[in-house]
Amino acid sequence: FPDRELRVVGADVTVPLNDGRRVPYANFDYAASAPCLEAVHEAITRALPYYSSVHRGAGYASQVTTAAYEKARGTVRSFLGAWRRASVVFTRNTTDAMNLLAHALPAGTTVVVFETEHHATLLPWKNVVRLPAPASPLEAVAAADRALAQAPTGPRLLVVTAASNVTGELWPLRELAETAHRNGARIAVDAAQHVPHRPLDMTALGLDYVAFSGHKLYAPFGAGVLAGRSDWLRAADPYLKGGGASASVEDRGDTTRWQAEPEARHEAGTPNVLGVIALAAACEALAATGWDSLVEHEERLLTRLRSGLARVPGVRELTLWDERHPRVGIVSFTVEGWNARDVALTLSGEYGIGVRDGKFCAHPFVRHLLASAENGEGCQDGQSTAVRASFGIGSTEEHVDRLLAALTRLTSEPRG
Ligand code: PMP
Repeated sequence: FPDRELRVVGADVTVPLNDGRRVPYANFDYAASAPCLEAVHEAITRALPYYSSVHRGAGYASQVTTAAYEKARGTVRSFLGAWRRASVVFTRNTTDAMNLLAHALPAGTTVVVFETEHHATLLPWKNVVRLPAPASPLEAVAAADRALAQAPTGPRLLVVTAASNVTGELWPLRELAETAHRNGARIAVDAAQHVPHRPLDMTALGLDYVAFSGHKLYAPFGAGVLAGRSDWLRAADPYLKGGGASASVEDRGDTTRWQAEPEARHEAGTPNVLGVIALAAACEALAATGWDSLVEHEERLLTRLRSGLARVPGVRELTLWDERHPRVGIVSFTVEGWNARDVALTLSGEYGIGVRDGKFCAHPFVRHLLASAENGEGCQDGQSTAVRASFGIGSTEEHVDRLLAALTRLTSEPRG
């Protein structure tokens, strides 16, 4: 990307190989945490001299920091296409945001999720109906419809991922939102893997809640977002109890009055000010670039990677739906005769390529994909984990070619 702000920090780092040589790092682990953008780095550097606690200080630095922190909510609101009065609560990450939402659900809410979810979205709920992996996007909508229609009376919430962290596949959000609303339910979307790759418009799609993490959006760790409708958040007990959430505290502990606004009510304690400023800077940089060039870059690399992988003997991509279904820059695969850990360690130690191996905090989903692969034509010799290559703004065709060349060599080596 010619735009300097869109360069990633560390694009030119080299890493040591097992034999001691150093090579440029090829980072294929963006889905875990993406590298920081130059624009984000600069925003942090600008904020540091005024680094001060928010909300409570009267000093100039505190006022500047408070203004930047509160401005970040507006930035996130427009980044997500949220309506003007939507709440934007800063959390630690997506996991924290989903747990906050679970905490804020009215008593007796039935939650419907698919087993394809990341654990952050699969696990926090109390009354939960877990649906099996749907065979197609259409079936996903039909299954959600049935489950919501059959749910006991009372509040209902459909929780879905926008883009899978295992297969990169994009879920039919608009149709799922319509289905949820037709059944009197709300929809919460885990957009952790969506927002770094594609624009999201909560209002146009009809999404009630969206969660994401800064560290997957080219900002550092420790800040995330829960955006959406205010009423349940307003009515819930504070997620954390302490300073900031309390409006007034009397001498007797049972007479505390809590802040009404969700942002204050659920963000007790000193927040991650720099993390939030960084997250908002990432939103601004991505929105300012316009998505077309980002999507075009990613599609080009994705096609190159997927068609290349299809040509490497023994490599099999894991995908839930039709292979032409739209997806973001995340590809998981197995290598026949190799366990995923050895593939990942060999790519790192011998080629300077960083991928991830395992079940990607989506155990039921990865088990499902591996079992389907085993039942299909290509026997996967009892694999229990997979390799994931994920990429983004700092990735290049040269990185993709290196990965493909490394896998080609690796699969041609005899395994003792
Ligand atoms: N949802 C998805 C789809 C993810 O990929 C991840 C991170 N792997 C999470 C939720 C959890 O994000 P965090 O670890 O930042 O809470």
